[in-house]
Amino acid sequence: MTIEAHQETLGFQTEIKQLLDLMIQSLYSNKEIFLRELISNASDAADKLRFEALSDDALYEGDADLKIWVAFDKDARTITVRDNGIGMSREEVIDNIGTIAKSGTQEFLKSLTGDKAKDTQLIGQFGVGFYSSFIVADKVTLFTRRAGNEASHGVKWESSGEGEYSVETIERKQHGTEVILHLRPDEDDFLSDYRLHGIIKKYSDHITLPIVMPKVTTDKDKDETTIEEEVVNTATALWTRAKNEITEEEYTEFYKHVAHDFDAPLARIHNQVEGTNEYSTLLFIPARAPFDLWDRNNRRGVKLYVRRVFIMDDNDKLLPPYLRFIRGIIDSNDLPLNISREMLQHNKQIDAIRSGTVKKILSALENMAKNEQEKYATFWKEFGKVLKEGVVDDFSNKQRLAKLLRFSTTHDDNPTPAISLEDYVGRMKDGQEKIYYLTAESFSAAKNSPHLEIFRKKGIEVLLLTDQIDEWASTHIIDFDGKQLQSVTKGELNLGDLEDEEEKKEAEKASDTLKPLLERIKTTLGDKVKEVRITHRLTTSPACLVADEQGMDASLERLLKSAGQPIMGNNPIMEINPQHPIVNALKEEADENRFNDWAFILFDQALLSEGGHLDDPAEFVKRMNEMFVSMGNLSSSRIITLN
Ligand code: ADP
Repeated sequence: MTIEAHQETLGFQTEIKQLLDLMIQSLYSNKEIFLRELISNASDAADKLRFEALSDDALYEGDADLKIWVAFDKDARTITVRDNGIGMSREEVIDNIGTIAKSGTQEFLKSLTGDKAKDTQLIGQFGVGFYSSFIVADKVTLFTRRAGNEASHGVKWESSGEGEYSVETIERKQHGTEVILHLRPDEDDFLSDYRLHGIIKKYSDHITLPIVMPKVTTDKDKDETTIEEEVVNTATALWTRAKNEITEEEYTEFYKHVAHDFDAPLARIHNQVEGTNEYSTLLFIPARAPFDLWDRNNRRGVKLYVRRVFIMDDNDKLLPPYLRFIRGIIDSNDLPLNISREMLQHNKQIDAIRSGTVKKILSALENMAKNEQEKYATFWKEFGKVLKEGVVDDFSNKQRLAKLLRFSTTHDDNPTPAISLEDYVGRMKDGQEKIYYLTAESFSAAKNSPHLEIFRKKGIEVLLLTDQIDEWASTHIIDFDGKQLQSVTKGELNLGDLEDEEEKKEAEKASDTLKPLLERIKTTLGDKVKEVRITHRLTTSPACLVADEQGMDASLERLLKSAGQPIMGNNPIMEINPQHPIVNALKEEADENRFNDWAFILFDQALLSEGGHLDDPAEFVKRMNEMFVSMGNLSSSRIITLN
């Protein structure tokens, strides 16, 4: 078999160069974390080898004693981190180390502010891993060979982090990866046993593999030096230890490793479940949403272990997608070690672990919402939108999830969602039967919607929903605490006992006298509207659009249309305000052209005020201008002077 080339020099993806510069600046005060990152990668590589070796023992190449070695060389001024894990092929080196295979990298870079403190946090959110080597090194050399590949398929990668790297195919007996850091001139204090031990203990004690350093002892009498391997870390699975013996720092460092996060988590959930199906979970809620949270396929979350042996990553069977922000591990005592992804599909034990774990997470959130409201507010800000998917996806926990939701409402018009359905129900008016909500594209569109006029007048609270997912979520929470959810932009408004007898009579009367006007508007607008009727939703606006009871809210229609779905036959109902001067003036309007203009203007205005888009904006503007001119407020000579 011929090996293609040799040596080539390649350019980093432009993003990497930018990331490297940013990282070196922002992590400079915490340089020692480079070692944590390299050890974390080595540990992942060992996990991967163990998993692949479950179906092919030969991959161990006779060396199943997985370890991580750390060493330094004072003369050469290098630090070396080596593992006998899975290793990488040439392609993998180029893909993994020369490219950031993370979707959304561009967007991430655009979100950088130039403010050092903020960007430092952001870089943590992105997770820079391997590249943190360049904080302390001005050259990094990596040797690797993928387990199972021939010795002649080893790879040498080298870069000074300046925009280019070289890759070379080499002969390498040992599988796994070795990273050599050539330290920058002023980083000599890392070349010390004491210092490296300290860093390993501090950040990597929880790694379940032994992390070993050479220990040199000299026997002066015999003039002999012996080099032994000394295990530096505790090397037991953190989650198996008693909770009260684990320190906050240990939990935090463990989290940073499993989550590839630079920051401490917001909360943790550590449980040991006993009984017929025994398992442990050590799960965390990050303090910030990762930049790729929106990717429902992104399953970096929870790792599966069986009796402390890593089995697999990225597993979508362990938690539902709406909990994809959870990080950590689940360790089963009962599953077979050779379980495959396929076997997980229909496994009763996995199903039980999954539903038990979901319940534990929901309880933790419930406790946080009750006892640590500020923390819960942070959680909601970061992950609320994702949790809402649960209302749609997880039927069995729908009511519990509904309680965890937080909303903006007309109660305080606070754009930060902080009101629960329980708060709302507790404040409902005497005689109010339903929970009212409005969906809109933005908070200000929602807050100022004409549909709220009557609710504001009567002091009835309305939930203001502005996330895309709300369109779906709101149709899935049919009721809460026995109270039906009702969109204020849908169907005939029936406020039941909240309505005045007086008002109702007025409305009926108006309906009769305005009948000819309603019909005339309908004829003018034709198919644009399904119906034209009198409203009692409005106090100040002349008209609004509503969907019929079975129809689709205008905001949902817009959403579907923008996603390219053609929507047929969902024309709105136009409701007009009998008290409004324009409507009154229209009753008398004899000029047919003028009447047409008014009818279309009313329709377009109503559409605009709820955040809709006009089919023909220029036509709207033309009609408006004609109206101004004909009303005599502007003389034609004035228009000419303006021009
Ligand atoms: P992350 O670990 O967050 O994915 P890194 O930049 O640290 O990001 O590493 C990028 C990828 O390079 C890893 O996902 C892994 O596929 C590969 N990699 C890094 N270090 C090793 C190693 N020691 N052995 C095998 N693969 C590695």
